[in-house]
Amino acid sequence: MNVADSEVVVSILYDAGFTAADNINDADLILVNTCSIRENAEQRIWRRLKAISHLKKKNKGIIIGLLGCMAERLKEKVLEEDRFVDIVAGPDSYRELPLLVAEAESGHKAVNVLLSREETYADISPVRLDKNGVSSFVSIMRGCNNMCAYCVVPYVRGSERSRDPLTILKEVTGLFNSGYREVTLLGQNVDSYIWDKNGFNIGFPELLEKVAEIDPLLRIRFSTSHPKDISDDLLKTMARYDNICKHIHLPVQSGSNRILKLMNREYTRESYMDRISAIRKFIPDCSISTDMISGFCTETEEDHQASLTLMEWTGFDFAYMFKYSERPGTRAARKNKDDIPEIIKTKRLDEIISLQNKLSALSKKNDVGKVFEVLIEGYSKRSSEYLSGRTTQNKVVVFPKKEFRKGEYVSVYIERCTSATLIGKTL
Ligand code: SAH
Ligand code: SF4
Repeated sequence: MNVADSEVVVSILYDAGFTAADNINDADLILVNTCSIRENAEQRIWRRLKAISHLKKKNKGIIIGLLGCMAERLKEKVLEEDRFVDIVAGPDSYRELPLLVAEAESGHKAVNVLLSREETYADISPVRLDKNGVSSFVSIMRGCNNMCAYCVVPYVRGSERSRDPLTILKEVTGLFNSGYREVTLLGQNVDSYIWDKNGFNIGFPELLEKVAEIDPLLRIRFSTSHPKDISDDLLKTMARYDNICKHIHLPVQSGSNRILKLMNREYTRESYMDRISAIRKFIPDCSISTDMISGFCTETEEDHQASLTLMEWTGFDFAYMFKYSERPGTRAARKNKDDIPEIIKTKRLDEIISLQNKLSALSKKNDVGKVFEVLIEGYSKRSSEYLSGRTTQNKVVVFPKKEFRKGEYVSVYIERCTSATLIGKTL
């Protein structure tokens, strides 16, 4: 999400005549894009800002800006405590950046943290920062209308807005024509994508279908699906198109109905399991990943065990796992005490991680002896004698280099695996 936002920012600045510096020491303008989702993300940014402040001590002319969610959440604090920050711009004010820079140049602090009900940056062609030239992110909506009790997103990114589908199709077609072979459609809750204007009336399955039809050589991924909204319609669409990747990220957060209710997730353990069964029925070879939170307010050992048994039952291929981190202003921060001691949160998280390590290893072991179509992304990180790419299930595969190029598809027979990677040979 933040990479996609930074790409929009770079596009806006290029259009206004700015150019990129080769390294940070040569820059006249330094913008730091930020995330507020967990406290440690914010702490990382404070450290980064401290490092950047030394540059400003050497050269008073440098303009420093803080962008994104943390700017939205901490506008006053940033301006008070960090006098070297000149610009504070929330996620809906990037179009104003050239003006904000001009204001900062004239010696004033420049602030815009207004959230919008409409801004989707639909017409802006992001400048790609990833450089691999094969896979890219495309934002299809912004904000979120859910009110998960622990989550700061609705407060810092505003309410949900879907982006005009024509602009999405245009952006993806442009990426394909310039050599990209994979796009990931991004939104906080892609299943609630809806566009009902200019003669279109489409939801996420229809959008996905239209993107898939751009070219069979283009792979499509998406994130994030919400367990309360993911529909059979979507699963059937995924099953119909070979180029829609067979991977679903379906964050469950907890396996306990009591905790899910307290989190205001609007599904139960049973309805989550029903969605997993539907995925297995419509797309038998689909991989499934998730997000887990350990130590949410009032979580008992029994609740924690329910998370472990649900993970085991589902057999997730991959997971992002976090300790609960109270975010000021959220519903949980207002209503529930962050009462699980750090030591217990850590112990439970460790158990979740070690179970997931076992499940991830099993998921890879099951792939040994099979053949997968792999989209080549470049050289393997460890050796330039090997190439690296991913399967439709989003698993990384490395294999000995031959005369293939990145962006091409090859069939790879999987011979063995490590904890993170499948290793094979091309057929
Ligand atoms: N919109 C997506 C995810 C958004 S944030 C969804 O609903 O699934 C990504 C992940 O960060 C969440 O799924 C959750 O697991 C984690 N997260 C969000 N807020 C958190 C908090 N306060 N403490 C710990 N983890 C959190
Ligand atoms: Fe946050 Fe919930 Fe929205 Fe995801 S769906 S961004 S967790 S409020």
